[in-house]
Amino acid sequence: RKCLSLIQKTKFLNAYITVSEEVALKQAEESEKRYKQGQSLGILDGIPVAVKDNFSTSGIQTTCASNMLKGYIPPFNATVVQKLLDQGALLMGKTNLDEFAMGSGSTDGAFGPVKNPWSYSKQYQEQRRPQSNRKREGTDWLIAGGSSGGSAAAVSAFTCFAALGSDTGGSTRNPAAHCGLVGFKPSYGLVSRHGLIPLVNSMDVPGILTRCVDDTAIVLGVLAGHDPKDSTTVQDPVKPFTVPSLSDVSKLCIGIPKEYLVPELSSEVRSLWSKAADLFESAGAKVIEVSLPHTSYSIVCYHVLCTAEVASNMARFDGLEYGHRCDVNMSTEAMYAATRREGFNDVVRGRILSGNFFLLKENYENYFIKAQKVRRLIANDFVNVFNSGVDILLTPTTLSEAVPFLEFIKEDNRTRSAQDDIFTQAVNMAGLPAVSMPAALSTQGLPIGLQFIGHAFCDQKLLTVAKWFE
Ligand code: GLN
Repeated sequence: RKCLSLIQKTKFLNAYITVSEEVALKQAEESEKRYKQGQSLGILDGIPVAVKDNFSTSGIQTTCASNMLKGYIPPFNATVVQKLLDQGALLMGKTNLDEFAMGSGSTDGAFGPVKNPWSYSKQYQEQRRPQSNRKREGTDWLIAGGSSGGSAAAVSAFTCFAALGSDTGGSTRNPAAHCGLVGFKPSYGLVSRHGLIPLVNSMDVPGILTRCVDDTAIVLGVLAGHDPKDSTTVQDPVKPFTVPSLSDVSKLCIGIPKEYLVPELSSEVRSLWSKAADLFESAGAKVIEVSLPHTSYSIVCYHVLCTAEVASNMARFDGLEYGHRCDVNMSTEAMYAATRREGFNDVVRGRILSGNFFLLKENYENYFIKAQKVRRLIANDFVNVFNSGVDILLTPTTLSEAVPFLEFIKEDNRTRSAQDDIFTQAVNMAGLPAVSMPAALSTQGLPIGLQFIGHAFCDQKLLTVAKWFE
């Protein structure tokens, strides 16, 4: 009830698209009953959680923040949602995002932008808005990051204890960094994508947003494991994801990729990054500079592969099977076209067009196939570094702290999004686990995140190091 009342109090953040109050209260009642009757409890029994609105939820509207899916009610739960519910979690609602998870600000959805709860922190307010002009309410707020900005704002505003995001190029880690949270992207194949409405099937993973590493580990323990409904999940049995407390990091080798020192990196993030490296070094870890030589190709390569998969994935939204249908009835083709024009925003339509261009017969070899080869080179950069003895890579998560909404939308939003993902996208192309950790507050009083990247399927080791840093 406390979380539900906080959801109401923080409605202006626009973190939730749908609040499932009745469902949550009913689940809470059942949890309480189990507890009172002395039945064995699930590890999440009675714990409020939120789920990004691109995971299917049985009987609860699932929109992907798109007019195309407004009012669409799936007949089944995504595997991850079902697993949370099976462990007794209370589903508070479905969180806001960029339409179909395309973006890095959570500013691009059909339900309006998400506001970062830190916009209202005392320190930021005092720095940003001197007494005289505190009236500029309404526009003077910060982006939450994205595309899982609703999930991040929901956890950060204490309306739930954990939230699911999705991460295709950074969408869990980016908003976690901007909202002062732990944002975890598991290894590709560790957690089922069944019921996650796809953006880029070969890169999507469900992500976890919490306030501390132990909470992430608990949720990961619930979610991880083979799913017969997702053939890309691995068969290996899942070890329980408890995260031991490391007391000694002297056997660790931390790699600092030199290509990540880009000119756009803010000086505050840069100095925090080097402070974190010093922290490991002074605790006895070996800290070395490493090279990921194909980093500079990652944004362009991601763009070609992402839009190609988007062009294919979005084909299912034709006005016949799901959600929106335009009432043009001259021909089936005219109905498809009008439905898609009305249903998708500019970003989605732009990506569909780009993707179809890259997939044209005359472009296929030159763009799509070439991008796949570059993707392999990018993935191999990581393999080489880890094979040379590096345990964990330490990088920034984002170029800067969260920026004001008006600044974010001033520039060409798509270019800005693309730049913002420089530290996160390559990880998805390589399928590696990575976590953004809240590292410190900036001089403006805003959270800054740093990212740790691990070897594929060494998720537990990654979280162990993250916990030491915490
Ligand atoms: N910002 C990236 C994009 O727009 C990544 C999005 C994501 O991870 N869902 O494609």
